[in-house]
Amino acid sequence: MNPLILSETPKSALAKAPALAQTQRSPQVSAVVPIYNEVESLPVLIETIAATFRDSAIPYEIICVDDGSSDGSAELLRQMAQQRSDLRAVLLRRNYGQTPAMAAGFNHAKGQVIVTLDGDLQNDPADIPRLIAKLDEGYDLVSGWRKDRQDAMVTRLIPSRIANWLIRHVTEVKIHDYGCSLKAYRAELVHDMNLYGELHRFLPALAFIEGARIAELPVRHHARRYGYSKYGLGRTFRVLMDLATIFFMKKFLTRPMHVFGLFGLLSMLIGLGLGIYLSILKLVLGMAIGDRPLLILAVVLFLTGVQLFSFGLLAELLMRTYHESQNRPIYRVREVVGADEPVAMRD
Ligand code: UDP
Ligand code: MG
Repeated sequence: MNPLILSETPKSALAKAPALAQTQRSPQVSAVVPIYNEVESLPVLIETIAATFRDSAIPYEIICVDDGSSDGSAELLRQMAQQRSDLRAVLLRRNYGQTPAMAAGFNHAKGQVIVTLDGDLQNDPADIPRLIAKLDEGYDLVSGWRKDRQDAMVTRLIPSRIANWLIRHVTEVKIHDYGCSLKAYRAELVHDMNLYGELHRFLPALAFIEGARIAELPVRHHARRYGYSKYGLGRTFRVLMDLATIFFMKKFLTRPMHVFGLFGLLSMLIGLGLGIYLSILKLVLGMAIGDRPLLILAVVLFLTGVQLFSFGLLAELLMRTYHESQNRPIYRVREVVGADEPVAMRD
């Protein structure tokens, strides 16, 4: 393992003493699973995840977040969590959506590595050890790639191809499959990311903004055995809007004035130029300008420019509040090498 990649804390995704750690409280891997009406899958799901970790002697915990299910998933989870020491159930008050459910799971996870997967058995828990091994090669995020995806062609595969192509070009994170839930993360990366809306699909892009090293690994994918998919074509629009947000965050989060200021100023200058031209026509040459569309264009451009410019200034203030109120640095340190105080400086 390359020591340069690993920072102060034991960053080997799995430190070397699983047997010891198993007896301690803190698990090394937390599996986070959002659950919305998946009651038939639950018993098999939990048992397969547990068996995978046991077989590879990895100390683990399973965190199932019930996202306001109405089919008895919450009650079953409550029961199972009381009986099993490796399962924690986080029961949300109502249905919030997959992203908030995952965020709740992240907040309750204690492992150094966090693995996410779907609760419908479409992801194969048997792939988890391979993801973790890949993470151990020095990555911060390893994303599953459903190379042989088992979903409906028209409503899922085609929109997903287009979405993946768009996301790849806009975010510049070069992976094939953004929608795959099966992923492994270093915990500190997850804790650095804030999730809103339906941004779980963009976790690799958010991770990339945080400076993460990202890898991709082909994983198995099964057709849904129980229940039904919670999404249809309707999410296409939401994905596009989220993509616009991500694009802006990636490029201009800490410098909104660079985009608003630029377009604002351009618009103002063109408006002003046209205004001057029309004034000359009117005042010097004595021509009538009241019925010219150009006059409207000049006014609209000038006002838009002023608006954009002021938006930029407001965005700058907001951005400062965003970072400073949360003590969020505008950079992420991978590691600090060397003593606090270099020997040469001591007396
Ligand atoms: N899910 C959730 N809350 C929701 C919708 C979905 O927690 O409001 C969970 C769901 O139980 C599943 C995962 O998110 O574990 C992915 O959902 P689904 O399998 O329906 O999506 P697909 O695989 O069809 O894209
Ligand atoms: Mg699914």
